[in-house]
Amino acid sequence: MPVGHKHEQELTMGTPYSAILSLIVTAGVLNIIMGLYSLSGRSKVSMVKAFFVFSMLAAVYAFASALELASGSLNEARIWIKVEYLGMPFLPPLNLLIIMSYLGMERFLKRGLKICMFVIPAVTLVLVMTNEWHHWYYRDIFARASTVHLKVDMVAGPWYIIQGAYTSACMFGGIVLLLLSWRKMPSYRFQLSTMLLGLILPLAGDFLYLGGVTPDGMDPIPVIMTVTSALYLWALASKGLFHVAPIARDNLFTSMRDGVLVLDRDHRLVDYNPAAAAMMPELGTGSIGQPLYGIWQRHTDEPIRSLMSQEEDGNFQADIQEIEWYVDKRKFHYQIRTSTIRKQGGQEAGRLIVLIDITERTRLQEELRQMAYHDGLTRIYNRMHFMKQSNLLLSEALKHEENMAFLMFDIDHFKRINDIYGHDIGDQALLYIVAICKEVLRPVDLFARYGGEEFVIALPGYSAAMAVHVAERIRSNLAQQPMPVPETDLYITASFGIAATEHLYEFNETIENDAITAGEAAATSDSSDTGERVDLLQRLLKLADRALYDAKGSGRDTLCVSDQKV
Ligand code: GH3
Ligand code: MG
Ligand code: MG
Repeated sequence: MPVGHKHEQELTMGTPYSAILSLIVTAGVLNIIMGLYSLSGRSKVSMVKAFFVFSMLAAVYAFASALELASGSLNEARIWIKVEYLGMPFLPPLNLLIIMSYLGMERFLKRGLKICMFVIPAVTLVLVMTNEWHHWYYRDIFARASTVHLKVDMVAGPWYIIQGAYTSACMFGGIVLLLLSWRKMPSYRFQLSTMLLGLILPLAGDFLYLGGVTPDGMDPIPVIMTVTSALYLWALASKGLFHVAPIARDNLFTSMRDGVLVLDRDHRLVDYNPAAAAMMPELGTGSIGQPLYGIWQRHTDEPIRSLMSQEEDGNFQADIQEIEWYVDKRKFHYQIRTSTIRKQGGQEAGRLIVLIDITERTRLQEELRQMAYHDGLTRIYNRMHFMKQSNLLLSEALKHEENMAFLMFDIDHFKRINDIYGHDIGDQALLYIVAICKEVLRPVDLFARYGGEEFVIALPGYSAAMAVHVAERIRSNLAQQPMPVPETDLYITASFGIAATEHLYEFNETIENDAITAGEAAATSDSSDTGERVDLLQRLLKLADRALYDAKGSGRDTLCVSDQKV
């Protein structure tokens, strides 16, 4: 914003500069309106405060400049110059603060730094007020009478140079920061341009002034202030210049734990946040403008579903998808949320993809699922899950008139194993038996812990005779492979009971009855059907249990097939 050096100041006698005077007064008025206006609206508080102070000080500077121009004597002019310095030196650092705040650079703006930024202007103010005693700011201010008006020449003192350099540094700093943000904030280029003009115009004015090309060697800064103030006021009123969106957007974008990718209409990467860069370590500035697909493929085989279907009817819905993601062979689970970014007119401008890390949630869900379906010790199915799954398998088998066998076994004298070797060895014996059974079983078989040391196996597609074969293999493997325990081998035996679908004579009758009454029973078929199956399953398991009991009765370490039909 408008700040300048003052090597020379022209002082009017009469009012040859009345047009310029009124422009400068306008700048002051505009600044007051601007300051008050910025207090309203959805702007960031810290920035509004800085902008309000800036506007008020700029107004002081403008009015004092006007009064200086209108002064009738050198002494009067001297007073107004002092008043100008109440505002002028503070404007460049304030402007820089506003820009930094707008660009979301608060984290660099520590209190100490903010105070430091105003040390040089404060010293300037003190030196200007007391210049008569030391002449450190102006070596001299003198009036030269000319025919038309009084010209005031000022000879710069040492501190004048320091203040001048600081002013330029603040303004150039602001320009650099704004230019650096140009690419990062494409949707805020209007605001950035306004602020850039607010710096470049006064700087340009300064150069013209120093080069002596301004009319009558006049300082153009107060006049330029009229232009920049009008520009700012227009930008404030019409475009919400300082509304918080950019800062909020920037902070949110960079601090989000979720990865965010912004794509254009052709699915090329437009922007990404640090979290996304952590998820795709190869992302760099070179990735901007590249198709996302190439990077995506390195981490997952799954495409982004919503990108496969181009929006045709304008009815694209936000889409949620869960995928497996690999970074250096480490596996993650991500939830992908895609939404459309629209221009103000409603046309699609691109897509926003948010990647949410759900690895931990997926792990916990899997753990819960394991706990709900499996036995804690042996990790095979628990009874409840076995009942549910084998009921489904049984339904299928009966529907297709296929066999299915159930095998139950109970470890012989397990209590003794516990008593002699202790509970821990007892637990290990259970695991040992489970391992031996698994060697014999097919992937389709269901294996579950039915009770303490009692197990059940569902063998889809097997008749009772085939199940006998399975049981015999388990029994003989157990007999041949004793479990090694400290100092000895532990021979474990078990008793087996078998029942199969061929024992279900009543079932066939049920089917026939069902066929006859199919029409009447149609309404209740679903639930009663499942109920029937559960009942059949329980009957089969009861038969297997009875056969197991028989095996125990006939001396253990043996197997029995149900001899009953139910
Ligand atoms: P039988 O040959 O008649 O089956 O005799 P048994 O001793 O195996 O039968 P019983 O039902 O009398 O005893 C079963 C024992 O199994 C009692 C119980 O302490 C033990 N048991 C049940 N669950 C576990 C377990 O998870 N770990 C251990 N170590 N022992 C268990
Ligand atoms: Mg037992
Ligand atoms: Mg038992």
